[in-house]
Amino acid sequence: MNIILLGPPGAGKGTQAEQIVEAYGTVHISTGDIFRKNIKENTELGKKVKEYIDKGLLVPDELVVELVADRLMQDDVKKGFMLDGFPRTIFQAEELDKVLSKLGTKIDTVVNIEVNPDILIERAVGRRICKGDGSTYHVKFNPPKKEGICDTCGQALYQRDDDKEETVKNRISVYTDQTKPLIDYYTKQNNIANINGEQNIDTVFEDIKAALGSDK
Ligand SMILES: [Zn+2]
Repeated sequence: MNIILLGPPGAGKGTQAEQIVEAYGTVHISTGDIFRKNIKENTELGKKVKEYIDKGLLVPDELVVELVADRLMQDDVKKGFMLDGFPRTIFQAEELDKVLSKLGTKIDTVVNIEVNPDILIERAVGRRICKGDGSTYHVKFNPPKKEGICDTCGQALYQRDDDKEETVKNRISVYTDQTKPLIDYYTKQNNIANINGEQNIDTVFEDIKAALGSDK
């Protein structure tokens, strides 16, 4: 089974990805991992990627597609894969379809985890982390016994810069703008499963399983 996993930052995509891999034995393919592996192994593609990253530039679409295509040609992927963080643009989506068609395969389901932006903001902005042991709390959903203090080690809690309201809002709006055309693209292909990500983790996964069916 070949899957694309979509979902805004903070929607619990990572947790669901782990569960999908465990249940279906799919190979988890993230562009970040592919970049790192190619750079580490100093492949021709890795050298090109490194040039862009070193200059602080975005890796161009064509190169990202080349890297993903290279990964999809490897043997382990034949048992099924899950793409995470790719495609991000219509160009990438169209190129992916071409690559898969050459390989005699296709995307079976696009799992699109949906969460209202207000909820994503509330989840992130209320998050507090312990300076001592890294425990996470939430001011509303999982507060420490004593405000601002870690239950387990007694050290002070802090808010990450990444969880500040403006940063979160900006991250969500970038995601939404980027992903909207892709959602339209896969909706037209009629293989998208919109999943309500506002439910608890287990229910979200039950819905994903229902959408994927029992095929492996
Ligand atoms: Zn602590």
